[in-house]
Amino acid sequence: MPGFELFGEQEKKEVQDVLDSGVLMRYGFDGMRQGHWKAREMETALRARMDTKYAHLVSSGTAALTVALASAGVGAGDEVILPTFTFVASFEAVLALGAIPILADIDATLTLDPQAVEKAVTHKTKVVMPVHMCGSMADLEPLKTICDNHGLVLLEDACQAIGGSYKGKPLGSFGDLGCFSFDYVKTITCGEGGALITNNEKYYLNADHYSDHGHDHLGTDRGAETHPFLGYNYRISELHAATGLAQLRRLDEFLEIQERNYTVIRKALEPIDGITFRTVPEGGVENYSFLSFLLSTEEKTRSSHKGLNAAGVDGCFYWFDNNWHYYRKWEHLTHKKSLGNLSQEVKERLPDYSQADFSKSDHWISRTISCLIKLSWTEEEVRERAKKMAAVLSAL
Ligand SMILES: *Cc1c(COP(=O)(O)O)cnc(C)c1O
Repeated sequence: MPGFELFGEQEKKEVQDVLDSGVLMRYGFDGMRQGHWKAREMETALRARMDTKYAHLVSSGTAALTVALASAGVGAGDEVILPTFTFVASFEAVLALGAIPILADIDATLTLDPQAVEKAVTHKTKVVMPVHMCGSMADLEPLKTICDNHGLVLLEDACQAIGGSYKGKPLGSFGDLGCFSFDYVKTITCGEGGALITNNEKYYLNADHYSDHGHDHLGTDRGAETHPFLGYNYRISELHAATGLAQLRRLDEFLEIQERNYTVIRKALEPIDGITFRTVPEGGVENYSFLSFLLSTEEKTRSSHKGLNAAGVDGCFYWFDNNWHYYRKWEHLTHKKSLGNLSQEVKERLPDYSQADFSKSDHWISRTISCLIKLSWTEEEVRERAKKMAAVLSAL
């Protein structure tokens, strides 16, 4: 998955432009910047690649989620439905706005189960946030129907699935809003960075203002700009955007390598009895950043994971025991461990997740192993790896 593996001359050239002009900020300093607007250029490229009207860069994927939620009007007490299998950033963004993260079960796609979402909707629900974990996607059509029926916003967290698609649309562009992360370990990287995409002008303008202290960005004198509403600082720097600009140009090259490596390994595992693969919804194309497969029982999965580690196959994750990606280990959320006071709404209405029944999610995640697909492997290394994995898994 990580773009940092292929960091090179193109990235250096873009960053050097910024260093030469000395303008590290994305706004203002028109005279000094020698025509370099790296954040703007990356936004233009992202709009084109994702086929959306608008794209806005921010300082991280977490910031993108926070700004996207804020841009859609999410505030204190509103409920956002998200999956039990995700990254902590998903609920952090919700909590940052005083809103309430409502966890819902996943299905064979390893992302939000539409039936669980339907059950979780209340009169307080404002957003449904599917998270396209490990390079593949939620079944977005039924989720969109639920959102349309209840007047909810569909926000895709595509931080781990940039470049994948669903029914011909790039992931992130199907919903009302889509978010990407360009942190150091994502498919393409800015070092730190993120972006949101949308076709909704109001959400875009809200995001553009909100992520820069509420600045209206009208005219050419930053000091004279007014603030139509309260905002915050989630700006990206030109240095980060310059890096991302070069990486975005290489996205399709990276995806091709990932698909090739993924396919070699998948072909080696497919004939093995007892191994199944995560369900990709009809019309979906993965970005191939991970290969996720399932075994028939938790015990077999645990021993397979151990076996892979012992055989020196690195980069394979057993999410069921993982501290970052599965609800079972989110003790800080369950026990509301906050430095300061949480909003009254969160204190009163955050469900007690230590008591929650997510056995449907457990059914999938306890049997899933996901293996990272690297860009830097040689053909020989991929084949070696596939052979090793097949040997370990057939022996069990
Ligand atoms: C990485 C990630 C984020 C957060 O991105 P950062 O840039 O690290 O803040 C959010 N959601 C998912 C699913 C991620 O993998």
